Amino acid sequence: MPGLCSGDLVGGLGLTEPGAGSDALGSMATTARRDGDDYVINGSKIYITNGPIADVILLYAKTDKSKGAKGISAFIIETDNPGFKVAQKLDKMGFRGSPTGELVFEDCRVPASAMLGVENSGVAVVMSGLDLERAMVASVCVGMAERALELGLEYAKMREQFGKPIASFQMMQSKLAEIYTEVETARAFSYRALAACVGLPKGAGGRGEIHKLTAAACLYAGEAFNKAVTEACHIHGGSGYMQDTEINRLFRANKLLEIGAGTSEVRKIIIAEELLRA
Ligand SMILES: Cc1cc2nc3c(=O)[nH]c(=O)nc-3n(C[C@H](O)[C@H](O)[C@H](O)COP(=O)(O)OP(=O)(O)OC[C@H]3O[C@@H](n4cnc5c(N)ncnc54)[C@H](O)[C@@H]3O)c2cc1C
Repeated sequence: MPGLCSGDLVGGLGLTEPGAGSDALGSMATTARRDGDDYVINGSKIYITNGPIADVILLYAKTDKSKGAKGISAFIIETDNPGFKVAQKLDKMGFRGSPTGELVFEDCRVPASAMLGVENSGVAVVMSGLDLERAMVASVCVGMAERALELGLEYAKMREQFGKPIASFQMMQSKLAEIYTEVETARAFSYRALAACVGLPKGAGGRGEIHKLTAAACLYAGEAFNKAVTEACHIHGGSGYMQDTEINRLFRANKLLEIGAGTSEVRKIIIAEELLRA
């Protein structure tokens, strides 16, 4: 932990698999078999952020196949383990500053002390972390939408057509006003979700109000960023379509914010389940 906090070590989170995305827990095929004082891990993980350069991976694997999602455990894997390998670094349309990859575990032997929590308690570990991740993703969306607004404003004031700045055209002004409204609405909702995370007791995530609220803030902020960056890119005309412009980089990054930490559909499923449970 000290190394991860100081930035000397890079961490990754290995949950998603080729056959287990939105249903990451139910369809998980990676296994960890107890063998004496060790566990032996076999399987693969895909789309893992920082996977190709990680020093340590928080890995989820099935320790009891008969229990389905309730038979999953969490492990801390150091990537100098001979049973670990990076199968490939994937080529992404956005967020290219951090590498994403496919990881393979072949008879990867770890001591039982590498388990985080107790056997078959992995679901609680995933769920508590995912709520905080969604609150964080919502804030990332707000920051990126805010930057899209700044870029749209700058360009609209600077770019002239028909002898005047395009910012003087009401249809461009309408876009700017809509982007601003999305940014501020997403900001208020995200702050509310973040405030609810403060002092959250250990293990309290993954259900109830915090589960619903963080999924909703993340859903809203992801969609708000999508609308904001799409309109800001449009204000840039043809230049927004060029890969080397900042607005284009934001546009390409946008899609991930509606996929990672659970897709928009998964976020809606969580919200509806909690509403109907109450
Ligand atoms: C750049 C990037 C980085 C990532 N980093 C990580 C990481 O570090 N660690 C990690 O573990 N994972 C990571 N992921 C994986 C990410 O969490 C998954 O891609 C995501 O959960 C969706 O899974 P999937 O891609 O298999 O899509 P699928 O689950 O196959 O979904 C395909 C489509 O079907 C929809 N769908 C699925 N089920 C339902 C349903 N019940 N109802 C309605 N619609 C449904 C989805 O919403 C989606 O639109 C990353 C992904 C990307 C792209």
